[in-house]
Amino acid sequence: MPAKTPASKPLSFASTDAHSAWAIYLAQIDRVVPYLGHLAKWVDSLKRPKRSLIVDVPVEMDDGSIRHFEGFRVQHNLSRGPGKGGIRFHPDVSLDEVMALSAWMTIKTAAVGLPFGGAKGGVRVDPSELSTKELERLTRRYTSEIGIIIGPQRDIPAPDVNTNGQIMAWMMDTYSMNTGHTSTGVVTGKPVHLGGSLGRVKATGRGVYVTGCEAAKRIGLELKGARVAVQGLGNVGGTAAELFASAGSLVVAVQDHTGTVVAPEGFDIVEALAIVKREGGIASYAKKKGAQLIDNEKFWDVETDILIPAALEGQINAERAKRIKAKLVLEGANGPTLPEADDVFEKRDILVVPDVICNAGGVTVSYFEWVQDFNSFYWTEDEINVRLDKIMRDALEHIWTTASQHKIGLRTATFAVACERILMARAERGIYP
Ligand code: NAD
Repeated sequence: MPAKTPASKPLSFASTDAHSAWAIYLAQIDRVVPYLGHLAKWVDSLKRPKRSLIVDVPVEMDDGSIRHFEGFRVQHNLSRGPGKGGIRFHPDVSLDEVMALSAWMTIKTAAVGLPFGGAKGGVRVDPSELSTKELERLTRRYTSEIGIIIGPQRDIPAPDVNTNGQIMAWMMDTYSMNTGHTSTGVVTGKPVHLGGSLGRVKATGRGVYVTGCEAAKRIGLELKGARVAVQGLGNVGGTAAELFASAGSLVVAVQDHTGTVVAPEGFDIVEALAIVKREGGIASYAKKKGAQLIDNEKFWDVETDILIPAALEGQINAERAKRIKAKLVLEGANGPTLPEADDVFEKRDILVVPDVICNAGGVTVSYFEWVQDFNSFYWTEDEINVRLDKIMRDALEHIWTTASQHKIGLRTATFAVACERILMARAERGIYP
């Protein structure tokens, strides 16, 4: 018998904090190993990003001084196609966080069957401290620095926290100037007149709603009259809340960065969204309409049927999971639930539609945008929505069947489906050279 080879060593540059985003991702991967059969021998390739680029981004500020910012682009896995994933501008961005977000993109694109790998990028900056011109210079220099690894066939960034269509337009222009020709397909989430796709802005919230409808049907939860609580009334949470309200559900609680407001009879969500957009937060709605503001921590005790965390990572720990009253949790945000909270939900028979499928509507329409850019032929919003809904429904159906077969939760089932697809590609391609 040949001697057993020692296992690959853990990464020296990953955080040692057991609650770091990368540690949470690794714990999720460990849970799926028993369901991978002969592909399990490849699983270490998911525990290390393929390529991690750290860049220095010097920017000349408006007052003539020079500031340096730390930037990252991580390509976690490219076995199934080019990298895909957003760019985050936030003061807390770290290599560990970008690694985890890139890995979740690998799982997400595979779970819904898109021909992409996973990537993510970020700059450690508070963009609210920069002028528009400073932000443009930062974006252009960052794009040039990561330009050595991105491209329409290599790795395609998109917006994430604090980045938007304008920033994508600057990225597209910078990459195009550096390569000598207009390259619309290098980023997605662009303005529609620059090769963006109709339906992209609402796609993630729409995906939350579609997977939520499918899950509700399967557990016999009637949407008409169902109570919904939403954390985050931004792009994702706002759209999801609007769609549930139009299906007859009652949005009974909303929490955002300005506070927590309850309305047992249900919010007029269209009006609430308009006020939030105009005045910056749900607390203004409460003040204007006389709605009840409650302590932020009480949000997790609200009597509700559906809970949609659509704001931040790491929001639901075991203690909050024990108090949550919902029958169904729809993860609009990335990584809102800690692994120990997953165990509590499973014990309490609360169904969680995990982020890696629930919020995959955005990357799905990003895929449509990329396809349209290659063909220079654009689809109608109806065409986009019909295709999006079908991909989301089919993905949920497949994952539901896997979960039932193995008697496992939807998160582990989603990871099982995705990891099988990724590792099959990995095994078939083999190791070069
Ligand atoms: P957004 O900036 O449009 O909205 C964020 C919302 O979170 C706002 O309502 C804000 O008030 C709220 N919020 C911020 N801090 C909070 C706090 N401390 N407590 C409670 N609420 C707080 O962002 P978004 O695009 O809607 O993204 C939300 C989440 O969804 C993020 O985790 C993001 O990574 C994830 N996501 C977004 C997309 C997309 O296409 N936009 C796709 C996939 C995943």
